[in-house]
Amino acid sequence: MSFRARLTLAYTGFFTVAVFLLGCGIYFSVRQSLYGGVERDLWAATQQVRAIFNAGGLEPIRTPSGEISLFLKGEFIQIFNNPNLGAQVFGPTGDLLDSTPNLGGRGLALPEGSLDLGADNFNSGLTSLREISGVRIQSLVTPLVLKNGQVVGILQISRPLKDVDLTLGQLTVILLGGGAIALMITAAGAALLSRRALLPIDLVTQTAQGIVRAEDLGQRVPVPPQQDELHRLTVTINELLGRLEGLFHTQQRFVADVSHELRTPLAAMQGNLEILSRGAVTNPEILDETIGDMRRETARLIRMVNDLLVLAQSDTRRQIRSEPVELDTLLLEVYRELRTLAGAVTLRIGAEDQVLVTGDRDRLKQALLNLGVNAIQHTAAGGYVTMGLERRDGFACLTVADTGEGISDDDLPHVFDRFFRADRSRSRHSGGAGLGLSIVRWVAEAHKGTATVASIPGRGSTFAIWLPLPDEPKEVSPDEAPAELLEPV
Ligand code: ADP
Repeated sequence: MSFRARLTLAYTGFFTVAVFLLGCGIYFSVRQSLYGGVERDLWAATQQVRAIFNAGGLEPIRTPSGEISLFLKGEFIQIFNNPNLGAQVFGPTGDLLDSTPNLGGRGLALPEGSLDLGADNFNSGLTSLREISGVRIQSLVTPLVLKNGQVVGILQISRPLKDVDLTLGQLTVILLGGGAIALMITAAGAALLSRRALLPIDLVTQTAQGIVRAEDLGQRVPVPPQQDELHRLTVTINELLGRLEGLFHTQQRFVADVSHELRTPLAAMQGNLEILSRGAVTNPEILDETIGDMRRETARLIRMVNDLLVLAQSDTRRQIRSEPVELDTLLLEVYRELRTLAGAVTLRIGAEDQVLVTGDRDRLKQALLNLGVNAIQHTAAGGYVTMGLERRDGFACLTVADTGEGISDDDLPHVFDRFFRADRSRSRHSGGAGLGLSIVRWVAEAHKGTATVASIPGRGSTFAIWLPLPDEPKEVSPDEAPAELLEPV
């Protein structure tokens, strides 16, 4: 069964219960009040008849023993005149003395137990309900008692319940008919409402199906204008689609970039093998050159695969090691390793504070080496590369500044992107695949820090890695980093 049908059924079910309870309540309270009215009528008539007999309906008679005793004058009942009520008066032994003419001579027998009524039943009486020729009749039987407690007769007032039954019958028809109509309207309304309420969800489902069929993550679900649950749902789904689309494109670009980058060294090696197979083995000069080329390409391939491995680890959010690292010692170590590569570029150490941070020593060294190698590569002979370490505003700040070619304003925001190379042909020649700075940024962020760059084309660049000091852990964005350190030296 569909959700819509279940919703409609549930609505209608609740409404049925509510209407049923309300109908029962109305029916029973009306019934109660009608029967209360009948009771009041019977008691009012009883009082009236009692008054009639008190006013002269008792006859004193001398008994054979010579005592004076009171007897009922039955015919006095004729004075009582109410077309809706019939009255009968009986002697103490239950023999009918007289009755009002509207009973048409039909004798209504006394109900069982009437003869047992005594003086103490004067105010309670005996109520009975019977059916004669299809008409229900309610009777009130009370004793007629003298002041001395002597029961001189029994009075029975009867009232047909035709009007009460008619009213209750009509009420039942109205309640059942009205309830049925209300239920039909409710069921139709509930079906309509649930259809309208679920329509936007249908739309979302259709769009989602369209996206699946067309394999187009660029599509979006239309957002309803009202700020309600559906609005939030569609916005969330759209955000999810946006994120999926972004990830999907990144993935596609990444695979394309990797294949492209791998193809170049492999093609070069294939070319070199071709040269060798054509007899270069016999020519020592060409042989040396070819093997040198192949060595370089193989080294480049190994470096790139290593870099990709590091980035893959960063993607899977693998935890980095957490150990105390003396950054000043690390800086010196990197400085010593880079000195052999510096050639005609002067490598020097600037500020060197003593700083201890918690982190992964190998990763930090790799990041610093990447910055140093880049700086040397992009600085012409005679230029300077300065490495430094300072404490700044709760951070350890490792800087590598050069007086090299610098980076243009257009390229500057992208240098940390994967596979980004400012000058593709030159960089390829120098061996980079555009992954070094991505690794630097990942290492900084994995240590809850950040990596920044400032550059002036033609004058040089300053790269910095900001790491929070252990006692003051803090996450920063590049905008929060102190500005003066971003200036090139
Ligand atoms: P690569 O391995 O190609 O050097 P990187 O991610 O390390 O890749 O650097 C990306 C690009 O940023 C480089 O191709 C280069 O154009 C630019 N770059 C990096 N460091 C410097 C620097 N110190 N001076 C000028 N340009 C730089």
